[in-house]
Amino acid sequence: MNYQVNERGYYGNFGGAYIPEMLYPNVEELRENYLAILCDDSFQKEFHQLLQDYVGRPTPLYYAARLSEQHNAKIYLKREDLCHTGAHKINNTIGQILLAKRLGKQKIIAETGAGQHGVATATVCALMGMDCMVYMGQLDMERQRPNVERMRILGTTVVPATSGSMTLKDATNEAMRHWINHPTDTHYIIGSVVGPHPYPDMVARFQSVISAEIKNQLTEREGNPYPDYVVACVGGGSNAAGAFHHFLKDEHVNLIGVEAAGKGLTSGESAATTVLGKPGVLHGSKTLLMQTEDGQVEEPYSISAGLDYPGIGPQHAHLFETGRVQFLSATDDEAMQAGIELSRMEGIIPAIESAHAVAVLSKLNVSADDVVVVNLSGRGDKDLETYIRWGKY
Ligand SMILES: *Cc1c(COP(=O)(O)O)cnc(C)c1O
Repeated sequence: MNYQVNERGYYGNFGGAYIPEMLYPNVEELRENYLAILCDDSFQKEFHQLLQDYVGRPTPLYYAARLSEQHNAKIYLKREDLCHTGAHKINNTIGQILLAKRLGKQKIIAETGAGQHGVATATVCALMGMDCMVYMGQLDMERQRPNVERMRILGTTVVPATSGSMTLKDATNEAMRHWINHPTDTHYIIGSVVGPHPYPDMVARFQSVISAEIKNQLTEREGNPYPDYVVACVGGGSNAAGAFHHFLKDEHVNLIGVEAAGKGLTSGESAATTVLGKPGVLHGSKTLLMQTEDGQVEEPYSISAGLDYPGIGPQHAHLFETGRVQFLSATDDEAMQAGIELSRMEGIIPAIESAHAVAVLSKLNVSADDVVVVNLSGRGDKDLETYIRWGKY
């Protein structure tokens, strides 16, 4: 079984580049150049030096003793929450800005929903002294004020998207339009394993540092690079793609993706794409997405902004279809309880996205000597308001 992208940009039945004619030159330039740039020694050297000195990698693989006792398994947490800016997203934005420089671009654009990818992009643009514009739905700007101000402090121009529902999809449309009008000097940094080929593959490669490190760290700790389970939450799917990457061919490693069940799988308010989605085209690739009977994208819902996305990346759609990854889900309440549990048992307040991954520990059929790695994608500082509103602690 092949789980990687093929030459035409597909993972099995999913992927490709479904883009307007006008975007073709931009995406084609990337497609023609990304592998040669990424595989170049000087690129790899600069990328890994920044991951070490700026992001703080390798992130620890922490044996969570009390959580292990609670769930009767050997549980390790991969501490992406300790990355600079508080989540895994910066692994990708560092990679893409180095790529943009090598393509001779001077300007960066991005779109953001909750603002986390916007902040990760604004951060690397400040680092590299590059001009940055982040499109954000006007409604999202009101809901995510601290991230808007973070971006502005970092020197980024935040552009309100005022069309449609004034949320992520409108921001995406306006960023695309900008890119069409500025094809030569501008690179568009996409924040997850979504979008037209080659974005999903490129982002997965940047995030794959997570599973490369897990293998090294487990060898040191357990004398064996292979855990029994790797568990990660899935919004678009970038932290999961990174945590799974180097284990995909090791079929004895159980890979678990966790989607947001929101208020319940049948409540009409969730973001559990593998359960509710059907094949269709979203943001430039063929994948699974939540849609109405006449093919309109359905409004997703999750208490965590990072999982509130109506699709999943095309590789995940393929991993679901082939059964290589098992997809589970956690409701808002289950995730919030798991977030409190982790705070109380280990002194780590997780991002609510990451708490979804912790929440399925009680649903796995584990035995005491099973090694389980949970990818702790981010820290909970940004979610303090949500914890307070939930209130049950
Ligand atoms: C954005 C985000 C996610 C979801 O994005 P993926 O691409 O699915 O990883 C998960 N966790 C945190 C902390 C995030 O900020």
